Amino acid sequence: MPKIYLIDVTNRDGVQTAKLGLSKLEKTMINIYLNEMGVYQSEFGFPTTRHETNYLQANLELAEMGVLKPINLSGGIRAIKDDVETTFERVPNIKHLNLSISTSDQMINGKFQGKKNQSSVIKDMVEAVKAARAHGCESVGANAEDASRTDISYLVEFGLAAKEAGADRLRYCDTLGFDNPFTIYDNCQILADKVEMPIEIHCHNDLGMAVANSLAGAMGVMDGGQDAYINTTINGIGERAGNADLIAVVLALCKSRNCAKKYPLGWDIHLKHASKIAKFAEYAFKVDIPINQPGVGSNAFAHASGIHADGVLKDPGNYELYGYEELGRGEPIKVETGREIITGQYSGISGFSHVMGKLDISFRNKSREEANEILELVRYANVEAQKPLVEDELSFIAKYPQIAKKLLTLTPLE
Ligand SMILES: [Zn+2]
Repeated sequence: MPKIYLIDVTNRDGVQTAKLGLSKLEKTMINIYLNEMGVYQSEFGFPTTRHETNYLQANLELAEMGVLKPINLSGGIRAIKDDVETTFERVPNIKHLNLSISTSDQMINGKFQGKKNQSSVIKDMVEAVKAARAHGCESVGANAEDASRTDISYLVEFGLAAKEAGADRLRYCDTLGFDNPFTIYDNCQILADKVEMPIEIHCHNDLGMAVANSLAGAMGVMDGGQDAYINTTINGIGERAGNADLIAVVLALCKSRNCAKKYPLGWDIHLKHASKIAKFAEYAFKVDIPINQPGVGSNAFAHASGIHADGVLKDPGNYELYGYEELGRGEPIKVETGREIITGQYSGISGFSHVMGKLDISFRNKSREEANEILELVRYANVEAQKPLVEDELSFIAKYPQIAKKLLTLTPLE
């Protein structure tokens, strides 16, 4: 029976959003939270971008250490052989790649402007897939960018060529959010049926349908007899109107009418981590979670009208589809209202020791030299993030100082 898997692309699509970005430590924390939550894969960055190299390698080390396990870490690059070669020069241990190329006539004519045509697009993609395989990639996805505006028979041809070249999955990108649930269902079912390969669904929210389209696409893929992989981002952060929100997709898969039984998840998702991961993305991106965001918005479990309040007090099931506890909500949040000592880029050892002591991080056993080293790393992390670090980040630096050092090392124009 086909299953659904989640591939979160916050660290790739999310960070390439205009006006937004994350520090390398924040990206690492997101990988850790996604792993805790049970997400199958994190598209964790850009292997051909030089300033990502240390971050990517550090996260692959965390995977080897068992910290980022069992999550798969995949890079996103263009589907051209040169990008694959550059990837393996810079990040030789990378095991999963998605290779992206535009497939629609609009893009072939409007973007490539005569430099490529349908057959050269397939040729480039096939060469890239083969190169990735030759480098020992464990999984390779071939992304059809702008798939929703691509002629379906050409998409089938593209998918079959990808499969033949050794790709494991075909990514159907609704790059402009052009599909609706009915059209994406049909296209995904045809692709699954004709290409006979697992299909990834990558949806954007320009028409407000990213979550619905992700579900419908996955249903089409599974009805076509294949596994479906849904791309998400935390809080739906992504280019323009954003991507399919991770928590909303999980809720829709688990709670919408008759869905979970017929279209089950392949990996257990621990929804209990939902609130924490959404809050961290809110902090890291500096973008507030909308008040009415499914599951994690501040109004998601708020009731004011007489009839609703009375009803939910008698039985929450009257007006709530799911309980707040399931999303890890309900714990009181501690807010400091008195004296506060904060670690920043100009902090000294005394204030820092005070903060670390309060966090219950075993700082007492560390030598003065080690403590100073960790403080120095925290200062640098502050320089990069330009905001006070959260507890989990401080704990991470104290626990893995060598990894933190790597994350914080940027060497331009080497
Ligand atoms: Zn995208």
